[in-house]
Amino acid sequence: MSARPAKDADVTQVVGHFINGVDVADNGRTLPVTNPATGQVTKHVAMASAKTVERAIAAAQDAFPAWRNTPPQRRAKVMFRFKQLLEERADDIVALLTSEHGKVLDDAMGEFSRGVEIVDYACGIAELLKGEHAKNVGPNIDSWSELHPLGVVAGITPFNFPAMVPMWMFPMAIACGNTFILKPSEKDPSAPMLVGHLLSEAGLPDGVFNIVNGDKEAVDTLLNDARVQAISFVGSTPIAEYIYATGTKNGKRIQALGGAKNHAIVMPDADIDNAVSALMGAAYGSCGERCMAISVAVCVGDNTADTIVAKLSEALQDLKVGNGADANNDMGPLVTQVHHDKVRGYVDLGVEEGADLVVDGRNLTVAGHEDGFFLGACLFDRVTPDMRIYQEEIFGPVLCVVRVESQEHAMQLINDHEYGNGTCIFTRDGEAARYFADNIQVGMVGINVPLPVPVALHSFGGWKRSLFGDLYAYGPDSVRFYTRRKTITQRWPSGGVREKAQFSFPSHS
Ligand code: NAD
Repeated sequence: MSARPAKDADVTQVVGHFINGVDVADNGRTLPVTNPATGQVTKHVAMASAKTVERAIAAAQDAFPAWRNTPPQRRAKVMFRFKQLLEERADDIVALLTSEHGKVLDDAMGEFSRGVEIVDYACGIAELLKGEHAKNVGPNIDSWSELHPLGVVAGITPFNFPAMVPMWMFPMAIACGNTFILKPSEKDPSAPMLVGHLLSEAGLPDGVFNIVNGDKEAVDTLLNDARVQAISFVGSTPIAEYIYATGTKNGKRIQALGGAKNHAIVMPDADIDNAVSALMGAAYGSCGERCMAISVAVCVGDNTADTIVAKLSEALQDLKVGNGADANNDMGPLVTQVHHDKVRGYVDLGVEEGADLVVDGRNLTVAGHEDGFFLGACLFDRVTPDMRIYQEEIFGPVLCVVRVESQEHAMQLINDHEYGNGTCIFTRDGEAARYFADNIQVGMVGINVPLPVPVALHSFGGWKRSLFGDLYAYGPDSVRFYTRRKTITQRWPSGGVREKAQFSFPSHS
């Protein structure tokens, strides 16, 4: 199917930027924003020029000294108020998410609430920044470590979690005393804009949080400006790698989270009905546009595979695909026509490669939404590791079933894959589960939990080419990422005692 141009209903609204506490228009380039369920252009979004980004950096730089010196308890007060406002405006934010991303309302609420959990965590910032103290490390010498904010930091985020992923970053960055510039995805910019306004309403001083909408020009300006100390990135692996290489070359601290191909192993002893329900949600929820989506089910034994494929095929008959704004639907459209065509192209490719397309969602139409970017759920059986549909991230409602003879073989496949974001095993055998958790080369592991997204108390990150950098997103790692340590050693010589110069290295003697 060729790409249909999105319909532009003469919209004039342009989402601009949010700099130094005010909305800033941009007279330069714009891109259309579509409602994926209808295919209609609903607004445009400004693409920041380098000058606009520099203006945001200057605002963040100016706001830093006062914010850095604001006591953490007071910063936490802003976070408490922000959380309250987020909860009051939850329905508005969720509606924006659905109208620009396409995901169903329940799923949008799930994303939103996982973001709010990080704001909760940031409310405890005074405790998290307490530092460490040691008395009498030498004669009359005390020593302590402090965690200092870095300065201006930036976040660059993907289309698939327009509210949650920015909230993985800025609540903790700001609570730690930094000032922040967010560059959201150009595909669904409205939810982050509303969230930015709520931060201001919560009492955040102007310039502490800024948003620039844009594309490569904006990102490259952030990467190359010496005033930006650190960048958190979440998106596809090629761009993550570019951000990491360029940012670190420019002396910045970088965490860059990339793509994924998450496997679930189904053991012969698994509770198969529950595994099927779990796979349905994990593979087709959010139309497969999740970095933790399960896109490969590795079935151990032909009996397991036959049962899983038969039960999934049956369950897929009842999957309701349609406008995410209709609460009866389970799965919405893909985000854009371009992405729709890319995912559909992978389904065509899988057929060419010889995989068995057991459920074919390519001809789905949604009555009344003929211009929407819908693709029905697809299920491939007998996928093999040499196929591109196995190797590459598809990021759509496509589940590949791979058949193997043993747990060892299933784990070898996962360990050999270039990505290592999430994985899961379905089993009733504790020993098999423990062996899996100990030996699998993946950052986030589920045992009968298909989407093991860590809660806010832990940090989020994958292994291998799913993450470039050493520190994960949110949780305890975010304090480490958004601060630098200073260790102070102090002694007050007693008055009147003259001390001799010492030329040996300081020791305890
Ligand atoms: P993307 O890489 O296309 O875009 C991410 C961000 O980078 C956007 O803000 C975009 O404007 C910017 N960008 C795009 N091209 C650029 C370029 N050439 N130079 C500089 N900046 C550029 O990703 P996407 O399509 O928005 O999101 C989907 C991808 O994100 C998937 O690969 C998914 O797995 C990944 N993702 C990963 C995680 C994770 O935690 N590992 C979470 C969510 C999404």
